Amino acid sequence: MVDKLVNSEANARRIAMVESCFGSSGQPLAVPGRVLVGEGVLTKMCRKKPKTRQFYLFNDILVYGNIIINKKKYNKQHIIPLEEVKLESIEDDPRGYQHGWLIKTASKSFAVYAATPVEKGEWMAHINKCIDDLLRKSGKKAVAEHAAVWVPDGKAHVCMHCEKSQFTLINRRHHCRKCGAVVCGPCSNKRFLLPSQSSKPLRVCLRCYDVLSGAKANNLADSAHKSNNQDSSGEEDSDDDDEAQKGQDMAHDVPKFYGDNEKAE
Ligand SMILES: [Zn+2]
Ligand SMILES: [Zn+2]
Repeated sequence: MVDKLVNSEANARRIAMVESCFGSSGQPLAVPGRVLVGEGVLTKMCRKKPKTRQFYLFNDILVYGNIIINKKKYNKQHIIPLEEVKLESIEDDPRGYQHGWLIKTASKSFAVYAATPVEKGEWMAHINKCIDDLLRKSGKKAVAEHAAVWVPDGKAHVCMHCEKSQFTLINRRHHCRKCGAVVCGPCSNKRFLLPSQSSKPLRVCLRCYDVLSGAKANNLADSAHKSNNQDSSGEEDSDDDDEAQKGQDMAHDVPKFYGDNEKAE
């Protein structure tokens, strides 16, 4: 259904609109064959707390960014190739967040939440359809290994490894890049090469280090494993800054998906 939109005027106009909202802070998005499938606001679980983010689903990439002015101006554009995405539904927490799912990729994985169960269903179905179509067309296999979802800072008041070390302003939290646990410095003082995430060795907890180094000893032949992923060894999640979204009308907008009931123009 989305294929009908490939060379349509409406699609070109919508993509140009997305580009103009990101302005010079974003990448050019109009490429031959690309279709904007849907758009809407989701709550993304970041390291410190959940944040509202604008999401755009294209037939080959998922784009999201920080909202400066609703529907007009965005920055901090992130582009995720759908080929390496895997979704996983999150069970509703009766006392917490609901209608969520994980977006898992080789280099980064995170949770997002929709406003209603219907919207969650729509988003997941549309994203999965795009992934299926892409993999079918390219003949590629889905990526098997995904980055850990980071446990939000607020969920851990003591180190999840030693269960003793209390976090303070001085005793900082660290995240294991293999399992996503929040751990103290001494419990994560080792680095290990995780080629799908970075070309440099990354911080891992002692538990993961033992497992990984044991596995490596058993599997030295794996050294041919190559990766051209961008480096992501920074301590901070680049998406984590607090910005904007003050005093704005953030009334809930229903996400829009194109192509379902639309004729090509
Ligand atoms: Zn510890
Ligand atoms: Zn770990």
